[in-house]
Amino acid sequence: AIPLSARVQRIKPSPSMVARMRAQELRAQGRDIIDLTTGEPDFDTPLHIQQAATAAMAAGETRYSPVNGTLRLRKAIAAKFERENGVSYPLDQIVVGSGAKQIIFNALAATLGEGDEVIVPAPYWVSYPDMVLACDGTPVIVACGENSGFKLTPEAFEAAITPKTRWLLLNTPSNPTGAFYSANEMTALTEVLLRHPHVALMTDDIYEHIRFDGGEPVCPVAIAPGLRERTLLVNGVSKTYAMTGFRIGYGAGPKPLVTAMNVIQSQTTSAAAAPSMAAAAAALEGDQSFVGEARLAYRARRDRAVALLNAIDGITCLTPDGAFYVYPSCAGLIGRRTAEGHELKSDLDVALYFLEEAGVAMLDGSAYGLSPYLRLSIATSLDAIEEACARMKRASDALQ
Ligand code: PLP
Repeated sequence: AIPLSARVQRIKPSPSMVARMRAQELRAQGRDIIDLTTGEPDFDTPLHIQQAATAAMAAGETRYSPVNGTLRLRKAIAAKFERENGVSYPLDQIVVGSGAKQIIFNALAATLGEGDEVIVPAPYWVSYPDMVLACDGTPVIVACGENSGFKLTPEAFEAAITPKTRWLLLNTPSNPTGAFYSANEMTALTEVLLRHPHVALMTDDIYEHIRFDGGEPVCPVAIAPGLRERTLLVNGVSKTYAMTGFRIGYGAGPKPLVTAMNVIQSQTTSAAAAPSMAAAAAALEGDQSFVGEARLAYRARRDRAVALLNAIDGITCLTPDGAFYVYPSCAGLIGRRTAEGHELKSDLDVALYFLEEAGVAMLDGSAYGLSPYLRLSIATSLDAIEEACARMKRASDALQ
């Protein structure tokens, strides 16, 4: 056998993929499974964006493209940051990659060495700790419970900082909790950062446009310009424009970092795909009505899901401010027994019980670093949400 690297043995496959595969297996066996594991919009990509990709191909944009992204796309991104976030970046401080995921990975690969620490508030997006590990760093997980709205407090942040801290990785609104940092909360975190000049800030704002309450998003660079030289703003088109398959993410940051990220990209993927970049530019430049419509749909689903989940004995669910997930506590189900007498000992047991008994696939909070919780995606129809919650209620009532 070909020996595997220490690097790959440090990391695990994305748990969302594993859960989805189990749901697919059951489906293949003929079971009717409602899949609430998926982290992508259920809407089709708006037509004008699809058409921009095909038009680009017809116009010959089928070749290698610039490592740092096409000029048109970088201009559209710079305009987006000005318009929506109140920050202005020259075009050579904008990076484009194959998804926000790759932007984050390139930034970590360009900056981390052995023993370097990255502060990751939990619950976190499952990929953060593994990407840090893959880049030889050490994730420092800071538990952020319900009493802080699943958010990192300035005190907890400051207590986690050591001389080896390189980054704080912040995700707002968050996958999995939907927690969204208000202007005051973001200001408090930037004040801590200003006191610790060796710590850089990476904000993953991929769910920026999927938010319901809590006001407008605040860009840390706009409120604390002193952080500009050590902040990387990460974003993308996947969630906002239902473009997950196009694989376009982008960032804005200090020139030396952006240059280093482009070096990594030049030796790995070369560049993002040209037709996808044309589509992303069209998304950012074009009619934004899809964004508002999708937000309204997600909001209605969130309201329904939160109400129905809270009506299940043993489950309690905070109302997320954004993103398209709910993250209910299943503490009240731990210790109960199935009809066959099996005790539910963890959130993973509960998630598997709901999958097997109710035919509803979801993820367990342990995958996201905070238990006992469940993560359900609401990027699906209201009907599916209602049916899933009804089935979960029956399955939960059947526990002893
Ligand atoms: N960041 C967060 C918090 C996510 O939930 C996801 C996708 O699930 C991504 C980044 C990946 O986005 P992209 O499709 O741009 O790689």
